[in-house]
Amino acid sequence: TIGLLTLDSQGNLSGACTTSGMAWKLPGRVGDSPIIGAGLYVDNEVGGATATGVGEAVIRACGSFLVVELMRQGNSPEDACRLAVERVISRSPDWKEIQVGFIAVNKQGEVGGFCIQPGFDYAVYDKAGGNRMFDGKSHV
Ligand code: ASP
Repeated sequence: TIGLLTLDSQGNLSGACTTSGMAWKLPGRVGDSPIIGAGLYVDNEVGGATATGVGEAVIRACGSFLVVELMRQGNSPEDACRLAVERVISRSPDWKEIQVGFIAVNKQGEVGGFCIQPGFDYAVYDKAGGNRMFDGKSHV
């Protein structure tokens, strides 16, 4: 998945994501990316989130919606992503074999990411810092 979240100069949030699907997927499979609330969710009052990894696991947790709701409750973007990863893990008996990651931005422009397995990087661009790469923290 390529997930993209933006906060514009007027403070409006938006997001998009694309997917290549999963290797060996069944014909007709629908992953998380085209499902609003699973692979992508943006609430202009709160923040936005998008997911990558095994879509079935993300769908079971309404993952991106969950990240945004956790930010609404006062969690930072990184904490919200971590808590959503923990929810995914709790519903995925095979979690040690799969990857799921989230990135998020809030209305204040704070960003965060978290994933199950190490090796999840994301990029942030802003006027102050230019383009920077971040190592997403991981559960493992
Ligand atoms: N989340 C996607 C899916 O399950 C896979 C990906 O591109 O990360 O279809």
